[in-house]
Amino acid sequence: MKKYDLLFIHPTTHIKTPNSHIEDAVTYVVMPMGTMALADLLDREGYNVRIFHTGIEQICDRTFQVKNLLKKYDSSLVGIDLHWYVHSYDALRIADLVKQFSNAQVVLGGFTASFFAKEILSNFESVDAVIQGDAEVPLLKLLEDRNSFEKIPNLMYRDGKSLKQSNRKYIADKCDLDRLNFSNFNLLSNFNEYRKSISQFGDLDPSGYKAKLKTQGWLCIGRGCSVNCSYCGGGKNAFNIHSGRRTPILRSKEKVVEDLVRLEEEKISCVYIDFDPFPEKRGYYHDLFSLIRKEKIDISTNFLLWSPSNRAFIQDFKRTFNPLYTTISLSPESGSEKVRRKNKGFYFNNKELFSWLNKVKKERIPIQLYFTSGLSGETEKSFEDTINLGKKVVEDYPIVSISCMPILLEPASLRFLYPKKYGISLKLRNFMDFYNHFKALEKGSQVSTRLGYRTNYLSEHQIIELSQRFRKIISSKLYDKWQKVFFGN
Ligand code: SF4
Repeated sequence: MKKYDLLFIHPTTHIKTPNSHIEDAVTYVVMPMGTMALADLLDREGYNVRIFHTGIEQICDRTFQVKNLLKKYDSSLVGIDLHWYVHSYDALRIADLVKQFSNAQVVLGGFTASFFAKEILSNFESVDAVIQGDAEVPLLKLLEDRNSFEKIPNLMYRDGKSLKQSNRKYIADKCDLDRLNFSNFNLLSNFNEYRKSISQFGDLDPSGYKAKLKTQGWLCIGRGCSVNCSYCGGGKNAFNIHSGRRTPILRSKEKVVEDLVRLEEEKISCVYIDFDPFPEKRGYYHDLFSLIRKEKIDISTNFLLWSPSNRAFIQDFKRTFNPLYTTISLSPESGSEKVRRKNKGFYFNNKELFSWLNKVKKERIPIQLYFTSGLSGETEKSFEDTINLGKKVVEDYPIVSISCMPILLEPASLRFLYPKKYGISLKLRNFMDFYNHFKALEKGSQVSTRLGYRTNYLSEHQIIELSQRFRKIISSKLYDKWQKVFFGN
C-alpha cells in the first residue's frame, strides 16, 4: 500500500438524466488552480502528496470508485476542495467514504466550504476541519502538528461535541503568492486527460467520439476582486467574508511567465486568463505581454476582460499570443444599461461597448460575448434590449461565440446575502439546500428548483425561457450571416 502524507481528492458533479442520450454526465470538471499550487508547496516541503480528480479518473476508467483509491493508498490526511457550490454533494459524499474506508482525517477548503464551514461541520461528522480562506500556511502547519488544531490559522474544527475556531488568521500576500508554482502537473493523476478537458463537461458517454485537438491550461495571475457584481460569490465583499481579503493581489510577471513556459512545455495550446481587477491601470498586462514576447512563448489565450479596454491594450494583446485559438471576451450580461448598472461591478454603457467592439474588429481578434437572464431588475421587456444588442453584435462584429444562460445563485454573492434588496426570492438558502439539490441531480431525481431563485419580475421558468429565446434568435442570425459569407445569399 503506497503511503502519502496528504491525498487531495477533487469532487465532481454528476447529473443523471434517465432515458436521455447521455444518462450520466460529469460536469464542472475544472479544478481550482490553487489545488495544484498547494500540492506543489507541500511537495517542495518534503511531504508526499498526490491529487486525484474523481471525474477525470472516471473518464479514464469507467469502473473507478473512490473507495478503491482509499484501499490502494494510505494517507493520514485527505484534503477535499469544496470551492464551487456545484460540488456540495460530491465533496461530502467523498468525506463520508474516507471515514468508511480509511482512518484519515478529513479537511475541506475553498470558497463554499469557507462560507458554510459551521453548517458543514455541524451536519457532517465525516469532516474534521475546514480551512476558511487561504490554505497554504494552514495546510503546512496541519502537516507539522496534527494535535494542536487551535494553533492552525483559518481553521474551524470539531472538538468533541463542540465546534471551535482558531483565532489565528492567515491571508496570503504577494510574496506568498510568488512562492507558489501552479504548474507542477506531475502531482495530478491522469493530467494528460485533464488538459484535454476544455469545457465544463466531461464525457462519460460510451460512444463519445469528439476529437480533442485543443489543450487548455489555467493561468493564475492573482487573487481577489476590487468590485461587487450582484451575482458573484468571488467579489470584493465575498472575499472579505470567506478569506478576510480586502484588496486583490497580483503575482509577479516573472512567476506567471515561469508557469507559461511550463504550460508550453506540457503542450498546452491555449491558456485561460480571467483576472482583471484593475481595468483603469492595465500596465501590469503590458509588462507581462512584453515579457511573454521576450521569452518567445508560443501559446494562444482565452482572455476575459472585466470591462472594455483601450486600443493600445488590444494591439499589445494581438502581438503577444498565437492567433490559432486566441479570443478576447467581455460580459455585458444585459443589453439594458439600467440592468447592467444595477448588477455589474464594472459598469460600462452601450456606447463604450460598441467603441470597444470597433477597436477589436479593427485588430481582427475573434470575440466571445457573455449574456445572461434573471438579473436583478430585469423584466421580459428589458430583456428585449439584450436580444437586440445580441442581434446587432453578431451582424457587425467578428463574434465567434455568444452565449446566454440564466444567472446562477452563488453563495456569498450580494444577491444571496441580501435577496430582498436585489429583488429575488431564494429557494436554496443554506448549505443543506445546495447539498440536497446536487444529491437529487446526481441520483436523477426530480428537483424542485433549477436555479435556486426567482426574481420579483420573473419566475424560474421565464428566466430559463428568456435565455433559450436569446440563443434561438441569435444562432439563427449567426447562421444567416455565415450563409451570406460562404454562399453570398
Ligand atoms: S464577476 Fe464581478 S465581482 Fe466577480 S470577480 Fe468578476 S468583476 Fe469581480
